[in-house]
Amino acid sequence: MIIVMKAGASEDDVRHVVERIEQLGLKAHPSQGVERTVIGVIGDERLVKKEQLSLLPQVDDVIPILKPYKLASREFKEENTVVAVAGVKIGGGTLRVIAGPCSVESEEQLLTTARQVKAAGADLLRGGAYKPRTSPYAFQGLGEEGLKLLALAREATGLGIVTEVMESSDVDMVAEYADLIQVGARNMHNSKLLRSLSRVRKPVLLKRNFSATLNEFLMSAEYLLAGGNSEVILCERGIRTFVEYTRNTLDLNIVPAIKLLSHLPIIVDPSHGTGRHDLVIPMSRAAVAAGADGLIIEVHPRPAEAFSDGDQSLTPDMFQVLMQQIKAMAQFMSGI
Ligand code: PEP
Ligand code: MN
Repeated sequence: MIIVMKAGASEDDVRHVVERIEQLGLKAHPSQGVERTVIGVIGDERLVKKEQLSLLPQVDDVIPILKPYKLASREFKEENTVVAVAGVKIGGGTLRVIAGPCSVESEEQLLTTARQVKAAGADLLRGGAYKPRTSPYAFQGLGEEGLKLLALAREATGLGIVTEVMESSDVDMVAEYADLIQVGARNMHNSKLLRSLSRVRKPVLLKRNFSATLNEFLMSAEYLLAGGNSEVILCERGIRTFVEYTRNTLDLNIVPAIKLLSHLPIIVDPSHGTGRHDLVIPMSRAAVAAGADGLIIEVHPRPAEAFSDGDQSLTPDMFQVLMQQIKAMAQFMSGI
């Protein structure tokens, strides 16, 4: 970090700051300019709280240089992380597609969807058994019954299953069924849940909160990595903006930004990102063009009857069109 002293700082003030830096176990390199003195700090600044230095007399500003995350950073690990989910490699250069209903509703609904998305070429099956709903009166999910139906669908189709866990107390149970455990957007900041998941030997799909900055997103991933779970897949699912014609604004900027800053794979959720079935296919193409490692898509055999997120669910026929188009897009991208 760099410490900028105020214009009126005396030699004693500078000495005082230097001493404090050394007490904190870091090295100080003062450099006196014409108007100001700046002090370069050498060492791991993540171990120091900014206020420990910014509140000292005559300090004007403390500018961090290092990123707040470490294990998630590209500097820490240069090569891309590849996460295997039920034998499907995510982040290895092949575009992967997770598809299925928003909520697990019934055996018939789930198995029909699973068979159809598999036939269209999906790699993994999604389905929520625990649903984070805005309204307490809305369908909250089938719970463990839903997990059992997911296991049945895996047996019937061979597709690995992706499902959300909402509470630390459910982690062990969900981990017994899921091949990839989803942390929903609302729980991205739930450090207790992240800590529980960091101790589980199952990959985690971490969705970005709708108001999270890139740093906050990667710091949540850091919780998982620091706790010992290195199998983390990021997911952009749209953020809140002033835009009212879509449910969220799909922030595709973050895909190449994450690729620059982190080694973790990132997939895109255009279903929640748009909230509109008629925008899902074009935004899926855009996500592939932006460099996403995969997509997660909501599909329902009868969207009008869906218990949740029917507006943004594709029919199996539309999903087939999506698969054809993104395959063509992925092929085009691999050639440039
Ligand atoms: C979901 O995947 O159905 C879901 C609830 O997503 P999010 O947490 O991104 O809103
Ligand atoms: Mn949903």
